[in-house]
Parts: sequence; structure tokens; C-alpha cells
Amino acid sequence: MTERQLPRQRFQNRVERARLSLAAHGLDALALSAGSDLSYLCGYEAMPLERLTLLVVGLTGPPRLLVPALEAPRVDPLDGYLELLPWEDGQDMMGAAVQAVRTVAGARPALAVSDGMWASVLLSLQERLPAARFSAAGEVLRELRVLKSPDEVAALRKAAQAVDEITRTYPSMTWEGRTEAEVAKEIAGLLTDVGHEEVNFVIVASGPNGASPHHTAAGRRILRGDVIVVDIGGTMNGYCSDITRCVTVGDSGDEVRRAYDALRRAQESAVHSVTPGVPAEQIDAVARDLLTEEGYGAFFIHRTGHGIGLDEHEDPYIVAGNQVPLAPGMCFSIEPGVYFPGRFGLRLEDIVVVEEDGVSPLNTSSHDLIVV
Ligand code: ZN
Ligand code: ZN
Ligand code: ZN
Repeated sequence: MTERQLPRQRFQNRVERARLSLAAHGLDALALSAGSDLSYLCGYEAMPLERLTLLVVGLTGPPRLLVPALEAPRVDPLDGYLELLPWEDGQDMMGAAVQAVRTVAGARPALAVSDGMWASVLLSLQERLPAARFSAAGEVLRELRVLKSPDEVAALRKAAQAVDEITRTYPSMTWEGRTEAEVAKEIAGLLTDVGHEEVNFVIVASGPNGASPHHTAAGRRILRGDVIVVDIGGTMNGYCSDITRCVTVGDSGDEVRRAYDALRRAQESAVHSVTPGVPAEQIDAVARDLLTEEGYGAFFIHRTGHGIGLDEHEDPYIVAGNQVPLAPGMCFSIEPGVYFPGRFGLRLEDIVVVEEDGVSPLNTSSHDLIVV
């Protein structure tokens, strides 16, 4: 994961905090299948396959990791802190899971399972542990994961700086005459070149395709006069990057410039209004109110942002109705956009971190429209 020194201590601290949260929720154990909650607590990135990996953490004792035997060599047992329970192909996988849960939390546990646990696994646990009570682990772990430690912020900053570098190469790339897919492939290569171990998405949405916020780069050829929404993200040392800039091929006209100017002011005002104690929804309101005043309110069709960390999208969500007060260590995107069906779209996105006395953007590349 992020840094190699003292991993045992880092994960032990997280497990202890998770236990406090478990106890506060009146729960006995966590049962986490493959996903970011599991890697948050023990550093292991399990393969999300049909062979079950399950981290069982009770209120005391060692965390137990049930793992397919063939994948056990990939696990760092953290100097013996993790108790490994390898199971072999042909063995009763769910039987092993139930036994691990019983050992940690007895036959009638109040269990918090991964939000993303496969229904097939959960149904089987429910059948084999009829006296257990089940709830979602997100409730327990959200409050921990939402506050990034300094080493997590450092990892997010490094990932952000890497994608900033990519956006600085946009002016020298060839856009006109190439398909969106060709450009997306080149950018995917750049994500790897700058140190990402995974490419999570490359959105290259040109001309009218820009009006679809999550457009899939495809066969459309980029033309002179197009504006292109370029939104890219990957995973670097376990932590995600996510940045959007807009490119125009030559002059895209007054209307695009006027809308982009409003969008840029909305995005920057939203960033500057981030400070501890402010409810998350207020940041959304700042961007939305400004765009509404400029006549673009109806074209801003999504929330303003999402938390980021081990996952591309996680808490806190910057959206109407989320009254969670911002707190130091929270990291999230601020990405208002305006979308004109059949014509064009625009979005501007940076990741920011809440500081003790305000905010610090992790992305620092220019907000100017990139004219090529
Ligand atoms: Zn998105
Ligand atoms: Zn994005
Ligand atoms: Zn985003």
C-alpha cells in the first residue's frame, strides 16, 4: 500500500479503531469479502472472484483472513498479526467461513458484512448462521475511512500530481482527426507511464458526446471546433486519481467560452468555500447557485463531487441532502459540469483535501480551456 515502514502498526491501529466503531454500533464482528474495506484493514488486495476471501475481525483476538490456499502466498501476514486460514479447492468454502465467524463471535453474532459482498455468499451465511444478525459494514467503517491519515493524503497527492502531469501534455497531443478511442488509448498508456498500477477510466467525450457525463470513448472522430471533456482516473500505490479538463480544437466559439467561464467560477468558488464544519451539501449549493444565476442551472445535472481514496467514489458525497460537516482529512472531488444535449458538454474537476484551517487542492494544473 502507501508506505512500507511499519505496516503492521498502521493496520493494527485501523483494526483497533474499527473495533471501537463496532462496539459503538453494538456489533460483534466484521466479515469482509474482497474489496476496499478488506484492504483498508489489512493491506491485502483480494481478487474479487468466486473463491471466497473473508476477513473476520471480532472485538478481540487476531484478525482472521480466510483465503484461497493458492492466493495465500500473496498475503503479507503483518508479522503474524493476521491469522491466515487458507482453504483448498474442493473444501467446503462456506463451512470454513462459518467456522471462522463462530470462532470469533459465537453462534449468534451481530455481523457487519461488506456492502459489496456477493448475494450468493451472504445468502449462504444467512442460511448457515440462522441466529446471526446482519448489517452493512459501511456503517461501521465509513466514519474511519472518510478521514484520511497524513500518509493517505500524501498518496492521494502523489496520484493527483501524476495526472496533473498528464493534463499538461494535452496541448502537445494530436486530437483533430483521431477517434476518441485512439486518444483514450494514448492517455491510458500515460496513466501507466506516470506510475499508476491501474487505469480505472478514460472518458474522452467530444462534441455532442460531451453532453453525456460518463460517455464511453468510441469511434467518433474529433473535429475542428470541438470541445472535448477529458476525465481520467487510475490507482497509484492503492489510491485513486481523478481529474477533468476540457480541450478545444481551435476556436470553439463564444457560447463555449461563456459557459466555461461560469463553470470555472462555480468550481473555484466551491473549492474556496471548503472549510471544516461546513456541511457537504453547502459546497454543492455554492457551485449550483452560481451556475443557476448565470442561467446554466438546468444544465448542471449531477452532484458536485464524491469522496476518493482506495475507491474512486466513496464518502463523503458532495450532494444536496448530505449534511455531514466537513472535517480535516476528508478528500473529495469538486466537479461541476454543464451539459447541452446534442451539442457539447463541459466539466472541471479537482481533488481537494480539507485542512485544519481551510482547503488544499491536490490537483494544481491550470484551469484554462486547453486550446489545441
Ligand atoms: Zn463521474
Ligand atoms: Zn472524474
Ligand atoms: Zn470524479
